[in-house]
Amino acid sequence: APEKGKDFIRTIIDADNESDKYGGRVHTRFPPEPNGYLHIGHAKSICLNFGVARDYQGKCNLRFDDTNPVKEEVEYVDSIREDVSWLGFSWDANPFASDYFEKLYYIAELFIKMGKAYVDHQSADEIRENRGTLKEPGKNSPYRDRTVEENLDLFRKMRAGEMPDGECILRGKIDMAAPNVMLRDPALYRIKHADHHRTGDAWCIYPMYDFTHGLSDAIEGITHSICTLEFENNRPLYDWCVNTLMEGLKQPELFGENSSVYEELAALPGFNQRPYQYEFARLNITGTVLSKRKLIQLVKEGHVSGWDDPRMPTISGFRRRGFTPASIRDFCERIGVAKADSTVEYALLEACLREDLNARAPRYLGVMDPVKLIIENYPEDQVDEFTMPLHPEDESYGERVVPFSRELWIERADFMEEPPKKFFRLGPGREVRLRFAYYVTCTGYEKDENGRITEIRATYDPETKGGWSKDGRKVKGTLHWVSAAHGVKAEVRNYGNLFTCENPNAPEEGKTFVDYVNPDSLEVLDECWVEPALADMAPGTNFQFERTGYFCADARDHKPGGKLVFNRTATLRDTWAK
Ligand code: ATP
Ligand code: MG
Ligand code: MG
Repeated sequence: APEKGKDFIRTIIDADNESDKYGGRVHTRFPPEPNGYLHIGHAKSICLNFGVARDYQGKCNLRFDDTNPVKEEVEYVDSIREDVSWLGFSWDANPFASDYFEKLYYIAELFIKMGKAYVDHQSADEIRENRGTLKEPGKNSPYRDRTVEENLDLFRKMRAGEMPDGECILRGKIDMAAPNVMLRDPALYRIKHADHHRTGDAWCIYPMYDFTHGLSDAIEGITHSICTLEFENNRPLYDWCVNTLMEGLKQPELFGENSSVYEELAALPGFNQRPYQYEFARLNITGTVLSKRKLIQLVKEGHVSGWDDPRMPTISGFRRRGFTPASIRDFCERIGVAKADSTVEYALLEACLREDLNARAPRYLGVMDPVKLIIENYPEDQVDEFTMPLHPEDESYGERVVPFSRELWIERADFMEEPPKKFFRLGPGREVRLRFAYYVTCTGYEKDENGRITEIRATYDPETKGGWSKDGRKVKGTLHWVSAAHGVKAEVRNYGNLFTCENPNAPEEGKTFVDYVNPDSLEVLDECWVEPALADMAPGTNFQFERTGYFCADARDHKPGGKLVFNRTATLRDTWAK
């Protein structure tokens, strides 16, 4: 039985270590295709693969699975590296599947020489028709019994660029009657005259996913090849590819003039220790989509400002929104690794975030929707400087000085003309505490012709300096404030849900997920007033506006000493309306 708290992958690794299957080696890989930015689902896979390597003093590769030349771009490669590093992981090697094109090609020739692969000249339609169905076996291709010589010759012509796209493919010779359709002579190589982001025009044939993936694992000496459940059906094919290679490596003579390829393969740590594939449940989160195809669409159609739009469920989006790597790792740990698909509440991710930011975000005062508070009995030329801790529970954060003067900004929502009993903030005749400063009592207010409050007046009690009273009288409300003479203007961006429903992946008939994009998911407050200490804040810094929420200085638009732009990362409490 698995140890309590241990996931099934680690249970398998323990058993493999017990039986000495890999001589104690543990080597995983995270294999993204560089055709988009990573999302929070990928974070689950990253934490699992890199976490396993860390826990077993093993290794983990970041491997770019780049066999599809038309969809892949360098921008994606760079962003993936940045995201994995940001999450706090470092790879032991960073290969590309395209690094193996030459080796894979000779392995394909090896398969041909072993009688395990053939060149098929059927059209794509014929291949599809002859594949059969779940109930009916497929039909053998008329080209299935080509001789090794003929196959080698044709495959070399494919490589040499002598054939146009689609003229033929290389297929594994397995079993057209296999119950698993994937094993019905799968495509191993196709012709594609397309430039590749790394190999340029060096190749006009490209290996297929299953062939590439298993063999790349074998070439890298991977022990545990962890992927998501949708690849369960591919596992027999994965096994076939790897086993065929293992068998071929027992016949060095088959390499012929390519004996150096044999030498290289034979020297691999994975030689005679083949990798195995294990599948775990992919992550789904409420209220968003986790599919690169859909995320690309959101970007291309302009529903968001880019891959790192703070509303995007991409790692770069979460980073820009102000999420910390620790909170995402914690989330991945808490959701665990299981074999059944499920959907996790976004609220859980936010809870992990709040826990982390509560511990590490410095506190500041900022007024989002300002209204003037004038303290009538406070001298015009006086300025108090209050020293406030940056963190209420951690002295090591230090302090900052906050100036106080006769005219302040307070939050419009902190005042009511006719407050109900339970409203402990400001109202006519009521006394409240201004955070760390003084008690003030409201003496009056003014409105414009629309009934909008334009200013509030109050008197302060000089005996309450620091925000407490010797006479022990209590005030229930504490308001945050910013000195009007010293405050700095800032733009605050509040983010709501990107979609208007819990599951945009299951649209009503006639709709697509895009129809559920929330047009009101971004609220820009462009006249916020914040304390002067924030003026020089570095982009990307996390902090809390007391009573308001967690924020971070926007990585793109915030300029220290210039325009201040803060993203709301999360409210202080869960306000998700159910
Ligand atoms: P998408 O379906 O979003 O396009 P993908 O699976 O095609 O993603 P890859 O770049 O191939 O993207 O993914 C790299 C690794 O991340 C794979 O091992 C894949 O199984 C894993 N992965 C992708 N999405 C998720 C998810 N939602 N939860 C957990 N792991 C995931
Ligand atoms: Mg993929
Ligand atoms: Mg996928």
